[in-house]
Amino acid sequence: MFFPDEDDMAIHKIIIAIDGYSSCGKSTTAKLVAAKLGYGYIDTGAMYRTVTLYFLENNISFTNPKEIEKALHNITISFHHNPKTDENETFLNGVNVEKEIRKMYVSNQVSEVSAIAEVRHAMVAQQQRMGKRKGIVMDGRDIGTHVFPNAELKIFMTADVNLRAFRRQQELLAKKQLVNLEEILQNLQHRDQIDTTRKESPLIQAPDSFLIDTSYMTVDEQVDIVVGMAQTQMLAPVM
Ligand code: C5P
Repeated sequence: MFFPDEDDMAIHKIIIAIDGYSSCGKSTTAKLVAAKLGYGYIDTGAMYRTVTLYFLENNISFTNPKEIEKALHNITISFHHNPKTDENETFLNGVNVEKEIRKMYVSNQVSEVSAIAEVRHAMVAQQQRMGKRKGIVMDGRDIGTHVFPNAELKIFMTADVNLRAFRRQQELLAKKQLVNLEEILQNLQHRDQIDTTRKESPLIQAPDSFLIDTSYMTVDEQVDIVVGMAQTQMLAPVM
């Protein structure tokens, strides 16, 4: 029989990977889970959005690998905490792009850009560096399957697409952007379609992940479930 000794039982830092469809509450949950555990939070969608913004602003062809490689060398993405809002904000080459990357014209192109192999390789390498010391919650589409296949806790989120569209509309409204519900619905379906069918690390549920359907859950319920599972993993003996 195996008896873990006291050191094995100590609380240890883990990686929490949260993947799933667009706008089903991944970022909101991930952010709050990270705050409760005192972990770092990394929004990988923001990274793909930032690359998309750069490509659009600099007329980078999505089909020219040389141009893409060169552009990727010129992109530095960083996150900085804003003490006024208590939120992390995304910076592109030192410029705050947090608001711009959430706009519809970026959402409408981001899945095409994130399906490009060169873009994924560059982002995944950066994400793996960010998670090296563990103690992070990272949300995206391929975190549990590709970026951190050995993450101690993997969550896969889903929700009814109409509810997702409605929630997204409310989020945008809070940012003073009024967008038609049908346009949002089409964008979510379009992104889900590309994200799940692309060749390079498509969005699929990792077999060792926990499925959470957030359709009829409150944010607090989502957070409590993930924190509870994380605490169990943080106490599990290290093998
Ligand atoms: O999470 P968010 O909806 O902001 O992500 C925007 C887009 O970035 C997704 O629709 C997807 O195309 C892409 N993405 C990705 N892999 C990730 C995170 C996001 O391909 N890990």
